[in-house]
This record gives sequence, structure tokens and C-alpha cells, in this order.
Amino acid sequence: MIILRTLLFATGAIFLVIFFYCFVRRRSQFSSLFAVLSLAIMVYALGYAFELGARNIDEIKFWLKVEYFGLAFLPTFWFLFAYKSQYKRNPTFQLNFAMFAIPVLTLFFCVTNEYHHLYYSEVTAVFVNNQPLAVLGKGPWYIVFTVYSNATLLGSLYVFFRQWRTSKRGISSRGFWMMMGALSVTVFELIYHFGLSPYDIDLTPFGLLVAALFQLVVIIRYDFLKADELVKDIVFSGISEGIIILDANGRISDYNKAGSLVFSWLHADAIGKKLAEFREGEELAKAATRGRELKLEVAGRPRYFDVKRTELIEGGKAVGSVFMFKDVTAMHRLFKKLYRFANYDMLTRIFNRHRFFDDAEKETARVRRYGGTMALLMIDLDFFKDVNDLHGHMAGDEVLAAVAQTLKKRIRSSDILGRYGGEEFVIVLAAVDADKALMVAEVIRRSVAELRVEHGGTSIPITVSVGVAVSGEDTSELTLEALLVQADRALYRAKREGRNRVACWTRGLDA
Ligand code: GH3
Ligand code: MG
Ligand code: MG
Repeated sequence: MIILRTLLFATGAIFLVIFFYCFVRRRSQFSSLFAVLSLAIMVYALGYAFELGARNIDEIKFWLKVEYFGLAFLPTFWFLFAYKSQYKRNPTFQLNFAMFAIPVLTLFFCVTNEYHHLYYSEVTAVFVNNQPLAVLGKGPWYIVFTVYSNATLLGSLYVFFRQWRTSKRGISSRGFWMMMGALSVTVFELIYHFGLSPYDIDLTPFGLLVAALFQLVVIIRYDFLKADELVKDIVFSGISEGIIILDANGRISDYNKAGSLVFSWLHADAIGKKLAEFREGEELAKAATRGRELKLEVAGRPRYFDVKRTELIEGGKAVGSVFMFKDVTAMHRLFKKLYRFANYDMLTRIFNRHRFFDDAEKETARVRRYGGTMALLMIDLDFFKDVNDLHGHMAGDEVLAAVAQTLKKRIRSSDILGRYGGEEFVIVLAAVDADKALMVAEVIRRSVAELRVEHGGTSIPITVSVGVAVSGEDTSELTLEALLVQADRALYRAKREGRNRVACWTRGLDA
């Protein structure tokens, strides 16, 4: 009995030291939790030590109550510690509430047992070597608490086991020692509950002592409670980039808050699963491999993510990988807007002059180098000043937009259409000879002539004149500039000859 009491005092003393150590060096989110856990173990161990030294039944009853100030909360703290070390975050309010409801009731029933005998049906004592030992009749709530605490301890064991399984397995991992700690509590508990302990002495404190020693190994060996852990945790959970960490087998071993805000499936249950088990996870991996943006539908709207993958190498061996992703939707939108402004004409929604020159130069260079044919059409609206004067500038704008769309409909996707100036358009027709070019020009002329733009109840008739220039036999000297000059000459002729017609450049026009 002396040995037992000494062990209990020692347990109490060790946990008092651990408590102060954790409390003073309370720098990581684990240390505060471990501090209260140590405090609970200490209260329980010391209470038990005093109970074993009690001189009569009343003292036993008193110390039993003291014990429960620690014992009632032990499984809960233990589980929360396991949960937090595994999932790196506090449990939800609901889980917290559920976890604390039974301990609080237990403590209440235990302290007020005389009035209802819900916890112990009776408390008597037997004398062994002149020392009274408690004999406890189990009340209904005692059963409830026993079931609860064993379930909770098994839950912790499971969480530690998962942590060990998803981390690097083996005795060198942090998870292994935590698991062994949880296991020892369970083993001692089971020995007691199957009535295998001497004098029916509750062995839980010794399980806790062993467990705590394992935890000490974790604390000392892995600097579990140190500040850099905390800093890493804060950065990890607070960073605006989403992070998913995979182990060597491609299974999800951790993720941060920003990540879980992007992917609804990224929660505690995803730990241990392969990324490819989730459709979006698969897309994430693909985007990272191809170095592309990831496009996701979030609440029915597209969002864009910049994705990066980094391999984790330790001692020349791949031990996992990290996915980092950042929402770049705003930048993506801005880029699209800038692109539109830089390349398109806002009124007619076709290429602007700048973009037309870019593409047309490329096409000209291609023909110059590899041969082939191309044609250039220059199109000017007839008497457009009159349209403005008669119907107003707004009506003029509408006419311009309508004509642009008509032109677009009449050409192929390989042709290049642009707004050249105020009411002048240009088209490069790729791979066409003179006959084909004139045919297209004629189709365009007719389509515009048939077009009626409705404005303010009147329909505005409109016609165009078209100048056509075609690349010659020898393309080695072909330039876009020359084609533009020729098309412009031809257009001038079409205007001079009465408008609403097509004219093609010929050598005579240069004279
Ligand atoms: P022509 O048949 O000889 O081409 O006669 P025109 O009246 O069309 O003469 P010109 O090509 O010289 O006139 C161009 C007019 O187009 C002048 C300008 O007021 C009008 N214009 C140019 N850009 C715009 C625009 O963006 N919107 C509107 N509404 N009018 C424009
Ligand atoms: Mg004009
Ligand atoms: Mg003009």
C-alpha cells in the first residue's frame, strides 16, 4: 500500500511539474491543453493517494469527490488533445459541448451522491491491514460515465492510430509515441474493469503515469510545445493560400483553413484519402502538373486558381508533396479586361487597328515566306456623314456596329477583320485568289446594302464601297503596306465611280 501511495504521489508530482512547464512555456496551442490535462491527472492522482491514506469512511468519501474534479474531465481532455494534435484545429462548438456535458454531470452527481445515490449506490469500506479501502456500489450514472470514458479513450486511441498511420509509420514518429501513451491508459483500464487488479484497485492513475511518460518523450524529442511549432501552425492556418499536404503514398495528411474554404470536401474525413478520390482534387493535381490555372465552379460562378506543387524530399527520398493554391479570379478578370481593351474595338467588338496589324503582318509574312495567295479588302461606308447629320451620332454608332457584325458573318474564321479607322474596315482574306476575293467583296457589298438599321422608328439604309488588292505571282517582295496602299486606291476608284460597288486594284491605278 505504501508503494502504491508513493507511486501516486510521484504521479501527482510529475504532472504538477509538467503542468507548470507547459503553463510557463505556454507557447503552442497544444501546451495549454496539455497543461489542463496534466492538472486533471495531478488532481486525480493526489486525490487517490489521499483516499488510500484515509482513516475512515468519511475521509474516503471526501477524497473520492476530490478525485472526480480531475477524473471526470480526463477522458475529455485526452480526446481533445488527440483531436487537436491530429487535426490541428479546435473541435467544433457542438463537439466541445457534447464532450463536456457528461463530465460536468458526472462531477455534479458524484459530489451530490448522498442525496440521490445515482453515482454510487453505496460507499462502504473494508479494512486491509488496518487500512480502510473503499468498496463502491455502482449506480446508474457510474455505468454511463464508464461507458463514456472508455469510448472516449478508444476514440483517442483511434485518432492517435490514424495519426501514426498517415504519418511516417514506425517508432520514430511522433504519432507512435502518442499512440502508445493512449494505449497504456486503455490497457490499465481494461485490466481494472475485468477485475484483474490486486485488491480491486483502480489502475487508471498508473496508466496515466505511463501515458504521460510517453507524452514527455514526445514533448522533449519532438519539441512539440515549442514556439516554432506555433509559428508554423499560425502561418499554416492563417495563410491566404490553400495548402494540402500529401504523404509518400499520395494520401492527404494535412490541409489548412484556406484550403477547406475552397474545397467543401476538404475536412477531417478527407485525411488519409487519396487526392484523386475527389473530382476537384484530381483537377487540382492535373492543373499543377500542366502548370495551368485551375477553373472551379464556386456557387455557380467560375473561379480561377493558381496552383503549385512542391515535392517534399528528405534524405534524397520523396516523403510527400505539398499543393498550394491561390484564388486569382480578380487578376484573371482584370487580365481579360485588359486583353479586351488592348485587342478589340469597344464599339464594334471586332479587332482594333493595332491587333489587326499584328495578325495581318503575320499572315503577310507567312505568304511572303512560303508562297500562296491573300487578299486585302478596304471597306468605307458611303455618305456616312449624312447618316450622322440626319439621324444623330448615336444612330451612326449603331450603324457601325451593325455593319461590323455583317462583315464578320460573311468571312471565315481564318480571315482577319478589323476597324481601320472611323467608318473604315479592313479584311485580310487568307488563301484566296483574285476571283474569290472579288466574290467575297461583292457578297459583303450586297449584304450591307440589304441591311436595315432600325433607329428611332426609322430604318436607315446603308451602303459600302470596297477596294480589293490581291497578292501577285511573286510573293517574295509582298508587304502589308503595299497591299493597303493598293486597296485604298481601289476604294477611291469605287467611290469615284458612284459608290456601293467593288473595285479591284490593277497596275493602271498607280498612274
Ligand atoms: P464617303 O462616301 O465619301 O465616304 O462619304 P462620307 O460621308 O462617309 O465621308 P467620310 O468617309 O469622309 O466621313 C467620315 C465620317 O464618319 C465623319 C465622322 O463624323 C464619321 N465617323 C467617324 N467615326 C465615327 C464614329 O465612331 N461614330 C460615328 N457616329 N460617326 C463616325
Ligand atoms: Mg465614308
Ligand atoms: Mg472614310
